[in-house]
Amino acid sequence: MTPLSELAQGQQYPTAALYVVATPIGNIADVTLRALHVLGLVDRIAAEDTRNTGQLLARYGISKPLVAVHQHNERAAALRLIEHLQAGERVAYVSDAGTPGISDPGAKLVDAVREAGFPVIPLPGASALATALSVAGDWVATFSFLGFLPSKAKARAATLQSLAKHPHAMVFYEAPHRIVETVQALADAFSGERRLLIARELTKLHEALHRGTLAEGPTWLAADPNRQRGEFVLVVEGAPQEAAGEHDHDALLGILLEELTVSSAAKVAAAITGAPRNALYARALALKADDA
Ligand code: SAM
Repeated sequence: MTPLSELAQGQQYPTAALYVVATPIGNIADVTLRALHVLGLVDRIAAEDTRNTGQLLARYGISKPLVAVHQHNERAAALRLIEHLQAGERVAYVSDAGTPGISDPGAKLVDAVREAGFPVIPLPGASALATALSVAGDWVATFSFLGFLPSKAKARAATLQSLAKHPHAMVFYEAPHRIVETVQALADAFSGERRLLIARELTKLHEALHRGTLAEGPTWLAADPNRQRGEFVLVVEGAPQEAAGEHDHDALLGILLEELTVSSAAKVAAAITGAPRNALYARALALKADDA
């Protein structure tokens, strides 16, 4: 087999740079060849949980000095890592699972390193977000990633209320101890007919993908306690878009018809509103007939 260093050579791997490396979200085979190349190349690996990452690296036969960088020490740890970069080291950062910075630490480290003048190089790979979306279907053609909803019921309800008219599919992350209340909160906040994808334990032994509606989500979870275990991505359909009403431009057409012919009124109204001219013409004709 071609060596990793040769396969990965389509890019430079400068010294004194931070490499932000995605790791698997479950199945440890979901690591990229380039991630393995870089993790083997760097002088030091900063990790959200050094024990967890040490075990993962051992499975790949990689052993490197590890530094803890988690949400409670991210800024201070960043300063220490910058000293290593100043000494010319290559440093990698990995979070516990998936892509750093996506509902995970990493963003503050990236800011600090870039502000200190060192390159930050991304290595793409697994993310629960992209994995769930890849099997959702056409209704998620546009989406917004919202991450974890607030844990307190009141704040969660307020957040969901502010999203009630959001036109794009919404992607949420959830942990097992809150999955039941979160799916119920979604069903309470939005119309029950909206589509819901529950993606559970992606890439793991008990992976499950449930497609249904928001209204039936709580019932599906309640039917088997095993369905409430593990890690979850929830994808919810966006708010249905109200079709433009036939009568939306009546007021404008009424004013224009006082001065203009049907054809001219339709032309001016189309220029003002952007609505189709033939539809406005038909409506103007009807208004004129009503008036006669
Ligand atoms: N950085 C990660 C990524 O790129 O997806 C996310 C980290 S966040 C702390 C952890 C959350 O991601 C979990 O609570 C769950 O919502 C989601 N998640 C991670 N792995 C998952 C998996 N294998 N299946 C389903 N959801 C997962």
